[in-house]
Amino acid sequence: MGPTLTFRPGDHRALRVCIAAAAADVAVDCSPAKATDPAQSGFSLSLDGFTSLSQANAAARSVGGERLVPKDVTAAALVEDWTEWDERCLQPALRQGNAAAIQACLQELAAGVTSTGFLHGQGPTLADVCIYSTLLPATTAQLVQLVPPISSYVERLAALGPFKAGSEACLCGASPRTFAEVFAQELAGGRSVHPQLPVAGKRNIMITSALPYVNNVPHLGNIVGCVLSADCYARFCRLRGHNAIFMCGTDEYGTATETKALEEGLTCQQICDKYNKIHADIYSWFGISFDNFGRTPTWQQTEIAQDIFQQLSEAGFLVEQTMEQLYSEAAGKFLADRLVSGRCPKCSYEDARGDQCDNCGNLLNPTELIDPICKLTGTRPVLRTTKHLFLDLPRLSQQLQDYIDTTSDLGGWTTNCLQVTKAWMRDGLKVRCITRDLRWGTPVPAEGYEDKVFYVWFDAPIGYISITANYTDEWKAWWQRPQDVDLVQFMGKDNVPFHTVIFPATLLGTGKPWTMMKSISVTEYLNYEDDKFSKSRGIGVFGNDAKDTGIPPEVWRYYLLANRPEQSDSVFKWTDLAAKTNNELLNNLGNFISRVIAFTHARFGGKVPAAVPGRGAEIADELGMQIQPIVQQYVELLEKIKIREAIRLALVISSAGNKLFQDYKLFDMIKEDRPEEDKQTCATLVSALTGLVAILAALVSPYMPTTTDKILEQLQLPASSILLTDDFIARTRLPHHLISAGHQLGARQLLFTRISDEEVAQHRARFSGKQSERATPAGAAATAETAKFIQKQGKSGPVAAGIEKPAAVKQAKAKASKAAKAPAGAEQSPGPNAVSLEAPGASPAANGDASAAGGQQQATANGVSAPEGKTSKKEKAAKPAKASPAAAEVDQPVDVSRVDLRVGVICKAWRHPGADSLYVEEIDCGEAEPRQVVSGLVKHIPEAEMQGARVVIVTNLKPANMRSVKSHAMVLAATSPDGSTVELVTPPEGAAPGDRVGAAGFEGVPDKLLDPKKAKVFETVATELASNSERIACYRGIPLATSAGPCTVKSVVGGSIR
Ligand SMILES: [Zn+2]
Repeated sequence: MGPTLTFRPGDHRALRVCIAAAAADVAVDCSPAKATDPAQSGFSLSLDGFTSLSQANAAARSVGGERLVPKDVTAAALVEDWTEWDERCLQPALRQGNAAAIQACLQELAAGVTSTGFLHGQGPTLADVCIYSTLLPATTAQLVQLVPPISSYVERLAALGPFKAGSEACLCGASPRTFAEVFAQELAGGRSVHPQLPVAGKRNIMITSALPYVNNVPHLGNIVGCVLSADCYARFCRLRGHNAIFMCGTDEYGTATETKALEEGLTCQQICDKYNKIHADIYSWFGISFDNFGRTPTWQQTEIAQDIFQQLSEAGFLVEQTMEQLYSEAAGKFLADRLVSGRCPKCSYEDARGDQCDNCGNLLNPTELIDPICKLTGTRPVLRTTKHLFLDLPRLSQQLQDYIDTTSDLGGWTTNCLQVTKAWMRDGLKVRCITRDLRWGTPVPAEGYEDKVFYVWFDAPIGYISITANYTDEWKAWWQRPQDVDLVQFMGKDNVPFHTVIFPATLLGTGKPWTMMKSISVTEYLNYEDDKFSKSRGIGVFGNDAKDTGIPPEVWRYYLLANRPEQSDSVFKWTDLAAKTNNELLNNLGNFISRVIAFTHARFGGKVPAAVPGRGAEIADELGMQIQPIVQQYVELLEKIKIREAIRLALVISSAGNKLFQDYKLFDMIKEDRPEEDKQTCATLVSALTGLVAILAALVSPYMPTTTDKILEQLQLPASSILLTDDFIARTRLPHHLISAGHQLGARQLLFTRISDEEVAQHRARFSGKQSERATPAGAAATAETAKFIQKQGKSGPVAAGIEKPAAVKQAKAKASKAAKAPAGAEQSPGPNAVSLEAPGASPAANGDASAAGGQQQATANGVSAPEGKTSKKEKAAKPAKASPAAAEVDQPVDVSRVDLRVGVICKAWRHPGADSLYVEEIDCGEAEPRQVVSGLVKHIPEAEMQGARVVIVTNLKPANMRSVKSHAMVLAATSPDGSTVELVTPPEGAAPGDRVGAAGFEGVPDKLLDPKKAKVFETVATELASNSERIACYRGIPLATSAGPCTVKSVVGGSIR
């Protein structure tokens, strides 16, 4: 029986399967599904009647797509990377209709399409098939307008035979419009194009996390404090069957943006675009499931903010006051505090800032400065009278007090939140200025205020509403239905008064029936090792750094949430991260699941055994009695947003599973010589344990959604089967009846990998110091190891030049040290107080800076000439292949002599900035300059091992573009027969960079350049490269060697070499 594909005609998931099958000439039985509820999948691929796949790209791979993945490690990694990117970036962006994310994806794709018109090589790969299948319905539905080069990329693919045949097969005779229709229905079943609205009879929950200010890169403390905690809760709500939406976005208006724009020489819009993307990318990497991640500068923001202003004005809650402010005649504007400096009135320090003196620490008003200077023009500003509008908070305080009294009780506000709120109310509210002399903001719709905008503290919380309005035109269904909607807000503790006092007062003042905040989840601070995380000082691990560590997002999510500063501050420690990963995730949770799946496969043919009455059922029943209350408690804790406590309970369950496994020695129980009764007991217990695995899949899902996906794949269960409904919770009482007997499990997958002490040490060294001073991934991880290597090699040429800081980084560093004395706090807005909200945030550690600088490093590193003294040797070794006459190449026999294999040393290796599975290396191969090479070894060889590694490289391949990074050679690696191990081919001790590697009897002169269009020389030769039983790399059984001896691999015997 061949594979059977069940799908609705025009489903893009089936499209990729059909194209892959057509390309590989695999026959697939098509069994069109009936028009179903769009929320139901309606898509599956049954491979043999037992195993079925519901993930589209995996299905495409299994029916011929595998043959569309190139054989060599690097090219394969590149294709895998793009295939994953399709699933992880492109599909979600389209499903969410997130215009900015779609735009970013298309730009990334445009940069990836090579000159051949494909993502890699001369023809379509699995990646092209998947991306094409994702784009086609979205473009047919006109959700996306494609422009060159993407439009021509798609057209080129569409014209190819397998793509035509695949489309036809997928449509089953329907019109191509069907692609669009099915996609629109999928969106409706998902989110956004038909947005979720409150539903009668359901619990409707609107979740927000504090809007991150756009001029900075968020650090881990910010991430766990807001978006990640909110995401965990939002995922829990959806899992529980509540009708929940999660709104967030970047807060983009204000002086901070203007200042940042001046610093970077960009417009405010450009700054916002840049940092909005940085934020969006980081959150997407962390798997944050926003229903909308918007931005504040939208016309909805203007409309709603101005409406609220008008209503406040009509209700008489606005008062006008005049004040004196510094005005720069040269710049033609009033100066924000940070744009003024002068002598401190308290200590006479010469360079005091407008808001604070760095010398004595006193808070200042810019008008107090002696001899003030305008920072924009260097001229002396003058005092001018200006008028501003103030919100009359004192007149709103009674209404506000009533709201606080009722809601804090109803919504279970935490003590830390109540304390701050009570202090504000007790001290008495004062009128609060809501306008500013600025341009970058929401215009104030009042006469005489044409040059003014709303102050960010007034404007930013309205962002929650306008971002919802960008999500749905019917935003009032969420925001003006207080009886039907619970508003739950997440933030760091410095943001509390804005959400419990000022924003509620603003809304109350309008007299409209707003949905006011009901529950609030406030985090304390996360500290970094022995210091405070600080955006302004660049201390700690930032969102973009997390990705570069190679530690997967689910591990970060787990660690941060399990360590969430819920009641008090908590500390981020690398050793703790490793300990939690190794002990809790790997040894406890991962080990349990892995054991159960493996055991079921080994002893029960991968089928869940039937539970039978008897001793096994009694034990399982007891287990259920223990487990069910835990599940119940988990749900209760998360309903109260006790995120940190709830996840402990999942581990209690996996511990119980592990214990049962050990206590009853299931491995022994099933042995041949044991009585039938024992075997039955064992079968029943295994059935209960698979039930436990399903329960764990549910409980970890708000924390580690991709881990849950992997568990479900192993269980071969759909996500809908583990919803934490009351029914499911009731069924956890009998875990041995949770999954039906005879249900076939999927293959075992490893869920977590160990973090070693060396990695901990490496990360610690790498992230010590400020972010702006660190080498960026593109600029070579200047780890201790690399530095040592460089010293040992005694080189100061290209390598040293490569890690020297370019001007941009130096500048950033200068700014960093200058900014180091800036007050902490105000890292998100709406912030703790107006002063720091307006502060430019002094963000020298901006990601954009650093990576741009990294790019420069990379570009110039190759242009630096070799150090003196080394030159002569290198000249001798350089390009011996030059003599080879091009004409003769065609007729030569195809063997290893034509491949130019050389000894190389990796000067430095770093993670490819745009592809998770690729390294970029600089390799000294005896030439004047090191070569830049891209290798797909990230999953196989730790970054630290790459540094300084001695390798064998193919130097006469045509340079290839690997996701925008040129690769000028290929590193040889051996792959074990089962594909599990990949190791570098190592040249013999004593061989020098540039030494030729060859096989005895094949001494010919290598081709100058192996042209893949003429003959696939390397591809052919590679089929005869292998490691022998002595772990020696061989060609046709003859050792590959230099004059110093043969090349070897570490452990792989009989491995293929490429
Ligand atoms: Zn002072």
